[in-house]
Amino acid sequence: MTGFSIVAGKPVGCHRCGQQSALAAWVPHEWQREDGSWTTGGGRRQAPLCQTCDLTDPHAGALALFLRFHPEFTTGGEIAEDALAQFSHLVEEWLPHAKVPVVSDEDFEADIAAWRSGEFDG
Ligand SMILES: [Zn+2]
Repeated sequence: MTGFSIVAGKPVGCHRCGQQSALAAWVPHEWQREDGSWTTGGGRRQAPLCQTCDLTDPHAGALALFLRFHPEFTTGGEIAEDALAQFSHLVEEWLPHAKVPVVSDEDFEADIAAWRSGEFDG
């Protein structure tokens, strides 16, 4: 999987519930050009793995559950070899399906208006 990378220990907010995510992945971000072809343009976006929202996701749920029982992967500590192998397998299962936050045109316009009025809170 080219262009993917995992970020642990620097949690980002979940775009669905606002909680801090267990870990996040940088995933290639594709968009469609006017001619209909797809490109990533080298762009990547951060996709959080949330231990609440992703728990029932068929591709992320096992990893979210795994991280509940293995905090050493997100907060530091000794990592056992068999746990590392399991983590690696679960990450490979999740990455191709990692959900990048989607911003609607209305949310984007509201953020711009808030920024212009000095009330943007991120
Ligand atoms: Zn969440």
